[in-house]
Amino acid sequence: MIVEPPGPSTTHYRRTVSETVVYPARRIVTMDPAQPEVEAVAVRDGRILAAGSLDECAGWGDHRIDRRFADHVIVPGMIEAHAHTLEGAFSLLPYVGWFDRHNVEGGTTPGIRTYDALLDRLRQLDAATRGSGEPIVVGGFDPIYFRDEQRLTRDHLDRVSTERPIFVFHASAHLATVNTAMLERHGITRDSPTPGVARGPDGEPNGELQEIPAMALAMSALSIILQKMNDPEAIEVLGQICANQGITTLTDLAAAGLQRPDGQAQWHSIVDREEYPARILQRHIAAIPPGGETWDDAAEAVERLAADDTAKLRTAGIKVVLDGSIQGFTAKMDWPGYYTGTDHGQWMTPPEQLLDICRPFHQRMINIHTHCNGDLTIDLWIDTVEQLVRESAWLDHRHTVQHSQLTKAHHFRRMARLGMCANIFTNHIWYWGDQHHDITIGPERARRMEPCATAEREGVSFSIHSDANVTPLGHLHTMWCAVNRVTPSGRVLGERERISPYSALRAATLGAAHQLHLDGEMGSIECGKAADLTVLDDDPLTIDPMAIRDIGVWGTVVGGRPFAANRG
Ligand SMILES: [Zn+2]
Repeated sequence: MIVEPPGPSTTHYRRTVSETVVYPARRIVTMDPAQPEVEAVAVRDGRILAAGSLDECAGWGDHRIDRRFADHVIVPGMIEAHAHTLEGAFSLLPYVGWFDRHNVEGGTTPGIRTYDALLDRLRQLDAATRGSGEPIVVGGFDPIYFRDEQRLTRDHLDRVSTERPIFVFHASAHLATVNTAMLERHGITRDSPTPGVARGPDGEPNGELQEIPAMALAMSALSIILQKMNDPEAIEVLGQICANQGITTLTDLAAAGLQRPDGQAQWHSIVDREEYPARILQRHIAAIPPGGETWDDAAEAVERLAADDTAKLRTAGIKVVLDGSIQGFTAKMDWPGYYTGTDHGQWMTPPEQLLDICRPFHQRMINIHTHCNGDLTIDLWIDTVEQLVRESAWLDHRHTVQHSQLTKAHHFRRMARLGMCANIFTNHIWYWGDQHHDITIGPERARRMEPCATAEREGVSFSIHSDANVTPLGHLHTMWCAVNRVTPSGRVLGERERISPYSALRAATLGAAHQLHLDGEMGSIECGKAADLTVLDDDPLTIDPMAIRDIGVWGTVVGGRPFAANRG
């Protein structure tokens, strides 16, 4: 029997004593400075009983030695502190992104590098499902990579079909491009008043739908995506992707418990099972719940959600979104703004409301993570936290700057004084680093973006993240980016912001646990912590740093239970 460590409520702690299993491994990296490396780890009741030599582990009495990891390297269970459960839903949709991408079977879906390849893929999908009447919906596309092509429009997609509606969802999840059949099905015309219906020089809709209100016009397609998001299979797939990528805990940064409390029952019914391969933390989007009127009502609703927490599915706090994305030119940029392109910077939360929104949560000691992409957002969020702490002395709040792509040294110095954390979007260096250098923010600011070394130097506790499904889930990749800072063109983007493999692994384990207030329970291999382990084929601390992202993943151990990766 697997017994979980105590969650926020000790009623979930089952006291049945299980057998003791000792796992020796080729190398075990603990992230415990008192003993950075051990020979074996003993597990009992879903928790780490001991880490040390084989003899020391045996000293706890009756035990079984399990040698399945004898040739592997064990590190603390990796914690993704910013992802989205869309990662699971997207795996159920055909993929048309630029980069090769892992799939749930453990193989790789090749990227699409030309419009011809995109159109061929759509034609194949049309032929395979002809007669269904359903729109063709694909995901992962990003026009920014196709620099030799004109931006994708309905004219391109009309070459696939003039009858079957097509919806190409962009990787950012903020835009889509549709064909004429889709525009016609939903009566989207030059007279449509909805903002975000992009128009060509002739004033007709060109097929691009920007942001949710415009995409929602193509409801026949959006409803397919929404259906996948609530599909139990998507939650199952998400768990297996976690095992494949060595993630033991995943935080959903857009959980909808405040908007749709009814959806929680399904989450619990799937994730609470012993055989579900990951712990899921829910950071709910700040929203007034049904039947509520004020932000106080919202904060009380978070407390109600937290009352249902289990060891596998828990409330992490709330998320506030301040602006858009840098590569989409919707991030709020301080002077001198974007390097090239047009500034479409958008406040997603009115700045003057931020303090009032956050106050009731802070007063109830509910942790707040705020999405800050552009550098105009960061001072606002730090000022807000400073004011919250002046009003109500919760000093160990660990409120966090999410994405933190353009945070500067002076921001980090203030954040350190205020007890704030950073979660840095290192995967951007690979996925958009060249575009940031050449197009969006220019060379100097691109060299300073994702500033892990500055965060470390200024004493801010930080993690690194994938924002999956925006980029593929997997901490070996986020670490590889933080350590090497190499872009697809071969450029090292800001060599002085590189950090050591040890610091990167710390960010992916203990750093993430800390900003989730869980560093007492996970993030390192120490007696008493959850038996959450990531099992790798090689050692990220001693391998050639450029090979970190290629290290094979055996799988994970979550609460003492092994979960093997699908390996293609
Ligand atoms: Zn996100």
